Amino acid sequence: MSAPHRIIGQGLAGTCLAWSLHDRRAPFEIIDREGHGSSRVAAGMINPVTGKNFQPSWRIAEFLPEAVEFYRRLEERLGAVFWHPLTVVRLASREADWEKIRSKLADPEVAPWVAGEVSPPDERWVGAVEVKGGGRLDVRAFLDASRAWFVERGFYHQAEADPASPEDRQGIWCEGAAGLIAGRPGLHRCAKGEILTLRADGWEEPRIRVGDGGWLIPIGGDLYKAGATYVWDVLDAAPTEKGRRQVEDIAHRLAPGPFEVIGHDAGVRPILRRSQPLIGPLGEGWFFNGLGSKGSLYAPGVARRLAEWMLDGTEPDPDLDLRQFLASVKHS
Ligand SMILES: Cc1cc2nc3c(=O)[nH]c(=O)nc-3n(C[C@H](O)[C@H](O)[C@H](O)COP(=O)(O)OP(=O)(O)OC[C@H]3O[C@@H](n4cnc5c(N)ncnc54)[C@H](O)[C@@H]3O)c2cc1C
Repeated sequence: MSAPHRIIGQGLAGTCLAWSLHDRRAPFEIIDREGHGSSRVAAGMINPVTGKNFQPSWRIAEFLPEAVEFYRRLEERLGAVFWHPLTVVRLASREADWEKIRSKLADPEVAPWVAGEVSPPDERWVGAVEVKGGGRLDVRAFLDASRAWFVERGFYHQAEADPASPEDRQGIWCEGAAGLIAGRPGLHRCAKGEILTLRADGWEEPRIRVGDGGWLIPIGGDLYKAGATYVWDVLDAAPTEKGRRQVEDIAHRLAPGPFEVIGHDAGVRPILRRSQPLIGPLGEGWFFNGLGSKGSLYAPGVARRLAEWMLDGTEPDPDLDLRQFLASVKHS
């Protein structure tokens, strides 16, 4: 049997790659230093149409069905539920924002994801539209259940990778923001984010609310996640008072009523160019990073493509190819 592929990092990227290799019966081992990965902070939201411009996520029609099918398959294998489909309600508090959203509703790229206009939940909002296909991945539960399965079979152990060791040099670097900040592959646009966990009595809001640059996600029982901040100049995983106040403001705007803050987390999003990941050979090993703010959506499909590249030599489309990206940056 050939030597196992050594995956460095057990966040969404490394975990999805491990399952893709396993599906192909390729031996693998996965290591993680167990500190400050952004997957363990992520709210796990998938929202098909996002941003000020109410724009479908990059290649959503391709990556979303693959992601949902992947998580469903692992739910069966691991005997747990990770994927929670949820309607997203996109809210606008200003006429100009609402006009922008309405102007996009008939766009052939947007229309398949729109369930329809609905009444705003209260008088603070001038318009609302429901988006379909969204939901929440319980990322932590997915990673923990995967890790337990890997540990049981001796595929996982805790370790810090060493770029100077020959074994790690040939590894598949799925280190998230830590790797980008350390200089692999040499440039990045990572962004710190903070989120809150809220407890609220009797809100009766089963949908994800998105509006005014923030979101509120029901995570079961009387708990919700609210987020998130974006900061580019301080890239650590320490929750801050300022971040807490910003997210509390977001929550007050979106919440149906009073709440209590019961959790506050921070992490760094691994960004190379928006939320469009990249894969490819790097040095003697391989690279999978740049999942940005949308790891839940892209990790499964991109992991499969990387496994096909590594095992069959099938190169992905140029959009995902790290070499093409680095060449384009060099010439720009
Ligand atoms: C506040 C916040 C909210 C977010 N919300 C969402 C959301 O709602 N939906 C969504 O899809 N995405 C969200 N994201 C983004 C999401 O977290 C990322 O897209 C995704 O988790 C990145 O996964 P990754 O595996 O590339 O990196 P990570 O999760 O950071 O994993 C990298 C792993 O590598 C390990 N590691 C690093 N270096 C080494 C080394 N040298 N040796 C050994 N191990 C190492 C780390 O310990 C870590 O476990 C959010 C991010 C933040 C910060």
